[in-house]
Amino acid sequence: MEKGIGISGIAGRMGRLVAEEVAAAGLKFAGGVDREPAEGRFADIAALAAASDVVVDFSHASAAASNARAVAAAGCAYVIGTTGLSAADEAVLAEAAARVPVVYAANFSPGVNLVLALAERMAAALPAEAYDAEILEMHHRQKVDAPSGTAIAMGRAVARGRGHKLEGHMESGRDGHTGARGTGAIGFAALRGGQVVGEHTLLFAAGTEHIALTHRAFDRRAFATGAVRAARWVHGRKPGLYGMADVLGIAPPA
Ligand code: NAD
Repeated sequence: MEKGIGISGIAGRMGRLVAEEVAAAGLKFAGGVDREPAEGRFADIAALAAASDVVVDFSHASAAASNARAVAAAGCAYVIGTTGLSAADEAVLAEAAARVPVVYAANFSPGVNLVLALAERMAAALPAEAYDAEILEMHHRQKVDAPSGTAIAMGRAVARGRGHKLEGHMESGRDGHTGARGTGAIGFAALRGGQVVGEHTLLFAAGTEHIALTHRAFDRRAFATGAVRAARWVHGRKPGLYGMADVLGIAPPA
């Protein structure tokens, strides 16, 4: 890498850790942007992208579409970990990925990505009529979106294993007289409190047995290390929308 790695959301918890991990990996730091301009920061994402080989973005969902457009226009590779993106934001990300290589992951930890691969295989093996899939997550009190991006990624993995999409099968935010659980539904429950970095459990509940898959993250540095690994991997790739499974080499053959 000649120009190095730029960081969007540089003043945030993840942005600061990514900057530390860039330095720890001996890579060049190209600079950063955040919501507020500050000394030593680039004025905007377009200027940052022009000065970077790869932009790593952990900012806010409201910035994702414009960031993706600016990074693609600069011909710069893009690693985005921001969660809470809408379907329209994801469509813009797919457009950007036609021009530059993009790694988009709701969770950059290797452990979670193995859990996602297992979730898909379990869902394929356990019939939806008998095994109710429920996803429980807990995060720190500052988190602004729910269910978490990782919980949704788990739901998508279960849906893929069952041969359909998550849309139309998601049951979240149950409250009041909800009626009985739908057969084949994928349920979500979100807890918020304290400083929990991220806990996710996928439960398959049948009349005769329960099977649970749990991942606990103790330090968000795991995500920062994974994002820097993704930045190294994506540099020089051909345009496309990649996931962390591609970076880790555990993606099923296309
Ligand atoms: P944070 O609030 O500590 O940091 C976000 C930073 O982005 C802040 O400094 C904020 O000022 C800045 N920001 C907000 N809007 C911006 C904009 N329009 N342009 C530039 N900067 C802007 O949050 P965090 O804990 O660092 O998390 C950031 C995002 O990353 C969230 O969406 C979170 O869910 C996600 N996240 C993803 C992973 C993963 O592995 N994919 C892990 C942890 C967090």
